[in-house]
Amino acid sequence: MNLQYDVTVIGSGPGGYVAAIRASQLGYKVAIVEKYSNLGGTCTNVGCIPAKALLDSSEHYHQALERFKTHGIDVGSLKLNFQQFIKRKSDVVSQNTSGLDYLMKKNKIDVYHGLGSFVDSEHVQVTGSGQSSILGSKYFIVATGSKPSTIPGVVIDKKRIITSTEGLSLNARPKSMVVIGGGVIGVELASVYARIGTEVTIIEFMDSLIPTMDRELGKALQKSLTKLNIKILLNSRVQSATNLGEDAAVNFIDQGGLAQEIKADYILVAVGRKAYTDGLNLEAVGVETERGKIRVNGQLQTNIPNIYAIGDVIDGPMLAHKAEEEGTLVAEVINGQKPHINYNLIPGVVYTWPEVASVGYTEEQLKKENRTYRIGKFPFAASGRARAAMEPDGFVKVIADTKYGEILGVHIIGPRAADLIAQAVTGMHYEGTDEDMFRMSYAHPTYSEALKEAFLLASGQGAINL
Ligand code: FAD
Ligand code: NAD
Repeated sequence: MNLQYDVTVIGSGPGGYVAAIRASQLGYKVAIVEKYSNLGGTCTNVGCIPAKALLDSSEHYHQALERFKTHGIDVGSLKLNFQQFIKRKSDVVSQNTSGLDYLMKKNKIDVYHGLGSFVDSEHVQVTGSGQSSILGSKYFIVATGSKPSTIPGVVIDKKRIITSTEGLSLNARPKSMVVIGGGVIGVELASVYARIGTEVTIIEFMDSLIPTMDRELGKALQKSLTKLNIKILLNSRVQSATNLGEDAAVNFIDQGGLAQEIKADYILVAVGRKAYTDGLNLEAVGVETERGKIRVNGQLQTNIPNIYAIGDVIDGPMLAHKAEEEGTLVAEVINGQKPHINYNLIPGVVYTWPEVASVGYTEEQLKKENRTYRIGKFPFAASGRARAAMEPDGFVKVIADTKYGEILGVHIIGPRAADLIAQAVTGMHYEGTDEDMFRMSYAHPTYSEALKEAFLLASGQGAINL
């Protein structure tokens, strides 16, 4: 077997497999190396996909419990089959990983399962299940992703003190759970468990949930999650967590400066993730890192010219679609093309209910830069579609530049915000103004009309339905 390739990708997450497919489409002989038996990386196996599967199942359960009666649907006594709840999630993951096996075959990409370690800048050793091979390659794309991080005093034992990975595969419905961190993972997994009846507390260090997003989103999300009976403790700093055998305890300083303790079945740690480079043997080739992340230039090239890096292992938002864009970019750069990513237009989505989605500048960022702007904000409570669906919570907030009305940011909390944000990304990609955006026809009745109304308000013309 000829083990010489044009492009070898290390890591098969959304960054890696997209890079491999694009490189193959461009005519290169491609190999992909994955240390686990399943392709797909964090996103497919223990991230985006399983999290969304459980979010969907738990939302159905919650709707059946809380809303069906009002719709005139009487389901009698409702029961959650937790084993099936987790099994369906695992089935969804399997469907996706099998899909990737098919895509690798279809694109004639050679798959190697094992740990990829650099021998020198032109060779990588793959070691797995007692076998070892050396792959020679002209170019390498490192896409080794990230792992959960923790904070001082909190040791993840994967039993009582767990991360999202264990949180997506529990054996039984927990009675109680404390989530450390009110960021994206924190609010998504808190939603899953609160909807199925677990008593959930979120402890967040900052003064808002999802604190990196526009602050109005965090405030509105707090209201919605409070309605779900999630207890939210802001401005609270966790100091330690202890596995007590049957349960666990977390110690923290509350917003009044007092030391507190809460016990729960599980403490789920969701305080961010760190780039993963263990085992790559980057030292052998002298690839530089900075605060644990691989350092790259604007073309995502490391200091070693034939080695590129993409996704969570480099700087930037740790998002699957960011990794995917970078995978495409690198394959095209290798091919001599001049692709470009506008990082300001990478949307961020939180799959709670209501969903949260955002693109462009937040109001806080614009204030900090002393930029002038105007705001159009339309509540879903005034949308006919939202009323028909009993989804009155949330709003669309459009931020436009004062002079020309160019859209600077769109921030949505509400039903189907995750899908609605694509319209804002499109408009901003073409440097559209609020007027460009409201002059288009939006189907009635749809949630998307809330965007049109917010664009109308931002322009100063005034909304129709408010
Ligand atoms: P990864 O997906 O982490 O893949 C890296 C792969 O490299 C892994 O399979 C790993 O085994 C392999 N690897 C590492 N080292 C080696 C080596 N030396 N040799 C061989 N293989 C190696 N993002 C979103 O955009 N939307 C979401 O809804 C979303 N939900 C998430 C939910 C959770 C619970 C979590 C944890 C994350 C979520 N994310 C989401 C983030 C998303 O999963 C990551 O941003 C994305 O997976 C990064 O892709 P990647 O290709 O850079 O790395
Ligand atoms: P995060 O950075 O989103 O949130 C971590 C939170 O923990 C922050 O709000 C931070 O203030 C808080 N925190 C830090 N130290 C603390 C302490 N001592 N006590 C209490 N709170 C503390 O990180 P995450 O939620 O772990 O997610 C990791 C990555 O995964 C993110 O970058 C995210 O983009 C990605 N992800 C994305 C999605 C999605 O796109 N829907 C879903 C899940 C994860």
